[in-house]
Amino acid sequence: MNKTGYFTHTDCWKHEMGAGHPECPDRLSAIEDRLLVSGVGDALDRREAPLASLVDIELAHTRMHVAALRGLTDGLRDEIKAGGPSHAQIDPDTAMNVHTWDAALRAAGAALAATDAVLAGEMESAFCAVRPPGHHACRDRAMGFCFLNNVTIAARYALERHGLKRVAIVDFDVHHGNGTEDIVAGDQRILMVSFYQHPFYPEGGSRSNASNLVNLPVPAYTKGPQVRALVESHWLPRLDAYQPEMIFISAGFDAHRADDMGQMGLVEADYAWMTQRIKEVAPRHAKGRIVSCLEGGYHLDALALSVEAHLRILADL
Ligand SMILES: [Zn+2]
Repeated sequence: MNKTGYFTHTDCWKHEMGAGHPECPDRLSAIEDRLLVSGVGDALDRREAPLASLVDIELAHTRMHVAALRGLTDGLRDEIKAGGPSHAQIDPDTAMNVHTWDAALRAAGAALAATDAVLAGEMESAFCAVRPPGHHACRDRAMGFCFLNNVTIAARYALERHGLKRVAIVDFDVHHGNGTEDIVAGDQRILMVSFYQHPFYPEGGSRSNASNLVNLPVPAYTKGPQVRALVESHWLPRLDAYQPEMIFISAGFDAHRADDMGQMGLVEADYAWMTQRIKEVAPRHAKGRIVSCLEGGYHLDALALSVEAHLRILADL
């Protein structure tokens, strides 16, 4: 048995938001190329992501949000037939093409299937190489390149459908996971721990003081040693005290020093170190169960190398 699963789908390549957009299909290709060249891909249990069902999506999103995204997709098809634009703009940074909805269903479906596989004991951990990302998607709103909150849908699914009592979401993307916060704030069955560059996108940073959130703002130019100290002093004691039965990771790699999307200074070794520390928590309470989903990461080489470092730790390579 390969210890770690790898979930993806070709539909995730078809979603694109216009020429030159940083959240582009090449991100997934860069990861795939790196896993091939390094041999890491051979050690993973590769699986095709299914489409998430609407009832599962509604564990984290309103029915109106789901209907609105579907309606935009249908409207876009009609407009294209009539010679109109190929994208529906959601906000200045976020747009849908006709493939976006299916890609979003695959991205959420990957997280759900990974959750099933890990909870069935078929693998210890899993990484979902998917796009669109999810952690800015709020209960009733798409924004910041995100449409469905993949990690939160899967976390609720683990609670509601598999009967777990407590799960944790760890978010190391450079941006605040405002969508995740919007959905889980006050839900004591979920502990969210994160750090994020602040002030930065999305404006305002964390807006909730709910006791199940450990959201740590850090200034631009924060580097690995400071982040590691925060993880040691704030994340790990809370995670251990909370005793999550499963750990989800919003794995964004845009806090990398090479990534122009943010101004932080992490390197591959920092991602490996964070993964290792999270992985040390998992056997104590969660039978080692970790499901990690790709969020940001826009410098293609840094993204690919960081994902490789993350996977080498998860899979003990
Ligand atoms: Zn990000």
